[in-house]
Amino acid sequence: MHEYDTIIIGGGPAGLSAALYSSRAMLKTLVLESATVGGQITSTTDVENYPGSISNNAQEVVTRMKEQALAFGGEIKLEKFKELTQKDKYFYVQTDKEEYKCKAIIAATGSYPMNIGCKGELEYRGMGVSYCATCDANFFRGLNVTVVGGGDSAVEEGLYLTKFADKVTLIHRRDTLRAAKSIQEKAFANPKMEFMWDSTVEEIKGDGVVKSIVVKNIKTNEIAEVETDGVFVFIGYEPNSDEFIDYVKLDEKGNIMSDENMNTNVPGIFVAGDVRSKLLKQVVTAVSDGAIAAISAEKYIAHLSPDPR
Ligand code: NAP
Repeated sequence: MHEYDTIIIGGGPAGLSAALYSSRAMLKTLVLESATVGGQITSTTDVENYPGSISNNAQEVVTRMKEQALAFGGEIKLEKFKELTQKDKYFYVQTDKEEYKCKAIIAATGSYPMNIGCKGELEYRGMGVSYCATCDANFFRGLNVTVVGGGDSAVEEGLYLTKFADKVTLIHRRDTLRAAKSIQEKAFANPKMEFMWDSTVEEIKGDGVVKSIVVKNIKTNEIAEVETDGVFVFIGYEPNSDEFIDYVKLDEKGNIMSDENMNTNVPGIFVAGDVRSKLLKQVVTAVSDGAIAAISAEKYIAHLSPDPR
């Protein structure tokens, strides 16, 4: 069985930052990533609020983070984390391929996009319903698309879609956006963007591909069927914390709770990034969490006594 000092579960900005700090602390460090190294940032294009980097190439930012983590000896394996067990002072991590042993765990599993939960959403997923503009915008060149949500993701991704689609209609359940004011201004100034306020999507309809949506005005209860070629859903994210439910304390939304040093309620299990219960979920806070979690793990390992070996 391969043995490490620290195993980081999740290879987004939080996990990669933890790997950098952990490997620089001379700890034998492994990052386990089940899907894409870089996490959610790889499904967007612009990174304009990460200090020191105004980039329209998010992939480049992630690649640099990955190279930096690997440069100090961190390892990254594309394996799906399945189960965590603890015996004496060791943790045992079962993936879809192997079992590993380590002294500290950093949970950096991030989050996944929320569904609207309306009729037709699952049926037309991949057939006009999308949760990733960077991945799918190209399919909508010259067409009319709908974006659902009013936060940073909806407005930023809506703006990105205007580079491809003829018209982008943003549907929001209130009449004011939650997104940062600077991107709101850009959206309001963009002639391809339209807004449908106080409205929710009740159903997505089509004939193999999306053709229309049924929209309800929640103030008047008026129902209308609106033609659209695609529906991009950006209504927030749920934490990827299921595998930790039996171990660590979660808040009411399923985020892993921690103190300011990223300690969970279980000694030896630390948390970083979007899966953590906190106010601001951004790349800048994810990398900060990762650095702190790695150093907390280093201190924890140094104080393990007697040496479990
Ligand atoms: P968010 O900030 O949670 O916003 C979700 C939006 O969807 C809100 O406007 C919300 O409406 C709406 N919504 C929630 N549930 C809904 C439902 N069931 N039906 C219809 N609408 C619903 O999510 P996000 O925009 O994905 O952002 C997530 C986090 O990432 C935030 O902290 C955000 O700042 C950050 N982020 C940052 C950047 C950036 O800094 N460049 C880019 C993307 C995301 P209400 O407003 O009425 O609640």
